[in-house]
Amino acid sequence: WFDRARFIPPDAIFALTAQYLADPSPRKVNLGQGTYRDENGSPWLATCQSLSGTGALHLAGLLLRACKTPLPKIYIPEPTWSNHHQVFSSLGFQCESFRYYSPETRDLDIDSYYATLKSAEPNSVVIIHACAQNPTGCDPSKEQWRELARLFKERQLFPLFDAAYLGFNSGNVDSDAFAIRLFIEETGLEAGVCLSFAKNMGLYGERVGCFLLATNTEQAAIKTQSMLEMLQRSEVSNPPAYGAKIASTILSSTTLRQAWYDDLITMSNRIRSMRMALYDKLVSTGTPGSWEHLIRQSGMFGFLGLSPSIVLTLREHYHIYMADNSRISIAGLNEDNVEYVGQSIAECLKQ
Ligand code: PMP
Repeated sequence: WFDRARFIPPDAIFALTAQYLADPSPRKVNLGQGTYRDENGSPWLATCQSLSGTGALHLAGLLLRACKTPLPKIYIPEPTWSNHHQVFSSLGFQCESFRYYSPETRDLDIDSYYATLKSAEPNSVVIIHACAQNPTGCDPSKEQWRELARLFKERQLFPLFDAAYLGFNSGNVDSDAFAIRLFIEETGLEAGVCLSFAKNMGLYGERVGCFLLATNTEQAAIKTQSMLEMLQRSEVSNPPAYGAKIASTILSSTTLRQAWYDDLITMSNRIRSMRMALYDKLVSTGTPGSWEHLIRQSGMFGFLGLSPSIVLTLREHYHIYMADNSRISIAGLNEDNVEYVGQSIAECLKQ
């Protein structure tokens, strides 16, 4: 993928910083960067701190644009987070939506996903929600992920993971990174990962994220790292430090990291119990329709599957606000309002 990447000499100020790192003097002053390899020597990562998840996606786009001619096509699931199209089309990419969700089954349309990959032009990029798909809450099963990874490899497609909700599915960031590890470590694919700490650390306004790139060769890692540094330098010079220091303090302390893991379990459990409470209410009040999809979905969002007119009635007569497509943020439900929401939906649908 990165044959055309070229080495860009480091910015003079950053080169100075590198000299600082090599300086053994106890009186030296701060800063540094570098690439590293994992215990097995592969894959090689190029990592770059970004302005949260959005900045990571944008950096990924800048890098892909600089490394690949002709410009790769970007395949984006439909529905998706609304910013995906903007980020990539504003960089000049041709974006193509593919059907990800079936309103009929209210579930992932895995056949459409497979068919899209099978017919996609080789060297295209596919945006993948690593877990807790926004907005549908529908993720592939482990078996389906395996088949997807196989197809990515067979069709020479580039997986670009958007990982904005690690920890929201299972309460465990490692389990939620299953697909990322499967693609990179088990399948040996080159891949990009756009990480955001906005949601899972509650650092929304601090803009903490990073873009990680797994490449198959050390040379590609070194070159792309240098390009990422230049691209980042030309856009924001240096990313904001405050939020990143919070994240790094949490991740490097055993006690704080454990407290964060506990918080993720609390958050994901509360979301799951609210899904269940809403489901129970809808079923116990005999609300017309089937509601299993609510408990099948995972992550922060759920697709209720209500018509736009019901959504409007709920807004105007019941003061319940949700997106026009009936996507709800499950986190907005709590013990005090979930009964009311369920009851109101039931009333609307029985009218
Ligand atoms: N990807 C998805 C799927 C999202 O839902 C969001 C936030 N809504 C982001 C990326 C980016 O979030 P941020 O830039 O705030 O980290």
